[in-house]
Amino acid sequence: MYDVVIIGSGPAGLCASIYAKRAGLRAVTVERNFISGGQVVNTYEVDNYPGLPGINGFDMGMKFREHADKLGCEFQTATVQAIKKQQGKNQMLLQAASIESDKEQDNQGTFIVETDKGILETKCVLAAMGASHAKLGIPGEEELSGMGVSYCATCDGAFFKGRTTAVIGGGDVAVEDAIFLARGCEKVYLVHRRDELRAAEILQRELKSLPNVEIIWDTIALSIDGKDQVEALQIKNVKTGEKSELSVDGVFVAVGILPQSELLLDVTVCDEKGYVVAGEDGVCKTPGIFAAGDIRTKKLRQIITAAADGANAITSVQEYLLKNKI
Ligand SMILES: Cc1cc2nc3c(=O)[nH]c(=O)nc-3n(C[C@H](O)[C@H](O)[C@H](O)COP(=O)(O)OP(=O)(O)OC[C@H]3O[C@@H](n4cnc5c(N)ncnc54)[C@H](O)[C@@H]3O)c2cc1C
Repeated sequence: MYDVVIIGSGPAGLCASIYAKRAGLRAVTVERNFISGGQVVNTYEVDNYPGLPGINGFDMGMKFREHADKLGCEFQTATVQAIKKQQGKNQMLLQAASIESDKEQDNQGTFIVETDKGILETKCVLAAMGASHAKLGIPGEEELSGMGVSYCATCDGAFFKGRTTAVIGGGDVAVEDAIFLARGCEKVYLVHRRDELRAAEILQRELKSLPNVEIIWDTIALSIDGKDQVEALQIKNVKTGEKSELSVDGVFVAVGILPQSELLLDVTVCDEKGYVVAGEDGVCKTPGIFAAGDIRTKKLRQIITAAADGANAITSVQEYLLKNKI
């Protein structure tokens, strides 16, 4: 019986495993990939994590994992397929006697974590499965990812100072990204497939007040061109059918984020976008389930906030185990 099974070994899961080990918890971190680091390993350069300026994302993932290994944290390479709640003895006795259990007694349940390699029994589950960015699926997107194609303006915007970029999308994230980029870029195009934006009114007003932003309405991206670096974006007006080319140094894709929360939909509460509802302490609506990193409801999805979440969530796990004497 583990105290906590941590699912995912991105920055949130790795930091959680370090904190769990140092707290003396019986913890295992389950990761479906053969390497740790999560989304970070696909990042060419990370330049906003203190102490590691300009580090390659893959190296950063390795460093985080080496730290956890050095402390003796336990890892398993497996894909978690299901999380099931088991009733505690107190609950079963109370139910047999038709007595309603109070909150404290509810918390006596444990969990079965089913993986493709077997079953793990645990008192708590820490979900750190992260999120993935929706892709456009157009030619050049994958080939030039990290070479001018980015899914995160906060992460990569600084590399495009004084250059020309295009943001694709029309929601809050796309408009926020365009506003953020406009502070450093010479010119920013916002390419949107409809004739109105979905973003909040206040964001739209700010965007439209910026002299170096041009919104290209009713337009989709056809392909991203460039040899070793983004050079141009091919676009098409969906109303007129007219095709044209934008000469750009960077393309920021902001067409949606997909939290990896399917496993939790039956065991705890997720919001309408699929993010697990949890505060900074990582406490979810179901006792014994905790969430950390990009998977949870939060403002800023970054390495540093994911790592902080891992630490906070393990502190909450400790408090939960202590309070419920399990
Ligand atoms: C291209 C790109 C560039 C970025 N650049 C930066 C940057 O420069 N600076 C910055 O601060 N942030 C950057 N980010 C954001 C940052 O990577 C994320 O905020 C951070 O990785 C989130 O960490 P996480 O641990 O919550 O999730 P993730 O990193 O997504 O890790 C989740 C892990 O869970 C595993 N997993 C998922 N489901 C299962 C399952 N069922 N069973 C087992 N394992 C599972 C996954 O394999 C993965 O390893 C970037 C993101 C991208 C995509």
